[in-house]
Amino acid sequence: MKEDYYDILGVSKSASAAEIKKAYRKKAIAYHPDKNPDDETAEHKFKEAAEAYEILGDEQKRAKYDQYGHAAFDGQQGFGGGGMNMDDIFSQFGDIFGSAFGGGGFGGFGGGQRRAKGTNLRVRVTLTLEELVLGVEKKIKVKRKKQAPGVSYTTCKTCQGSGQTMRITNTILGRMQSAATCSACNGAGQTLRHRPSGADAYGMLSQEETVSIKIPAGVEDGMQLKVSGKGNEAPGQGISGDLIVQISVKEHSYLKREGNNLHFDLYISISEAVLGTYKEIETVGSSVRIRLESGIQSGKILRLKGKGIPSLNQYGTGDMLVHVNVWTPEQLTKEQKQFFEQQQKHDNFKPNPKSGHKSFFDKVKDMFS
Ligand SMILES: [Zn+2]
Repeated sequence: MKEDYYDILGVSKSASAAEIKKAYRKKAIAYHPDKNPDDETAEHKFKEAAEAYEILGDEQKRAKYDQYGHAAFDGQQGFGGGGMNMDDIFSQFGDIFGSAFGGGGFGGFGGGQRRAKGTNLRVRVTLTLEELVLGVEKKIKVKRKKQAPGVSYTTCKTCQGSGQTMRITNTILGRMQSAATCSACNGAGQTLRHRPSGADAYGMLSQEETVSIKIPAGVEDGMQLKVSGKGNEAPGQGISGDLIVQISVKEHSYLKREGNNLHFDLYISISEAVLGTYKEIETVGSSVRIRLESGIQSGKILRLKGKGIPSLNQYGTGDMLVHVNVWTPEQLTKEQKQFFEQQQKHDNFKPNPKSGHKSFFDKVKDMFS
């Protein structure tokens, strides 16, 4: 008669997943074969606990077991008969003991050979609003590490070219293997055979190079662009790092950006507002002549379609929003004062915002909708 899985782990049938995990962890440490050499009872208990956890640690398998008992897994490989093998058991450990043991932990190198990569370089590029709207190609001087002319490499003797060395540590769970970057070649898998004069210990020279960077229209302040392969070269057969371009945008003297829209404050005189006028609006890279109707109110927003910033993903272009501000004279001559005093009597000088004028709050709502 096979023992009950809950009894094996010493937990109740209502134990939580965390309690089950904790109980198994305890058993696995107590009965680990490396802690109990040549102890068949311990080995049996170790395997038994692993098998119990394989079922109870899995929500679906646990539900089946609760319903049908051991019969639920009859005839399945690994259960009932010979139990789990040690590889299966160790493969559970990444889950149980976390990343402290390096996930893969047991069973060799895992990932296979890596190629060493050169380090990334970073530059900052400052753009004007015009460059950001139209897109621009910038030529930037960077100091890159490159393999010196005449340098030659040979396979690293320490790691045999893999770039990694195995480290074996003794832990409470026994001997653990883990892979570490080879310290002799820094992971390159190759060491220097001939070092030209002026080259560093890896056969590298720092050289100034002009890199051409295409900056698409619509980028934003703080964005990073990556130019693949234009960072530092790696020694040997490694691949070059990347050049990371950090974008910053100069503030414009009269245009403000909001998403892909641009905002512009237009000031007109009282008489222009009263009589109506034409204005030449400077957009980015061109200008637009707009008509202001007589009687235009201060605070009106005129939308110039497509005169904003192109979107980075090429879906359309933002607008330019022209905010109309009526400039009130701060000083008046005697005649002007008299003139306005006379106008005060007329009804059409009294504010009358009811007749279809949008309030400031309505306009803000429209702008962002
Ligand atoms: Zn090496």
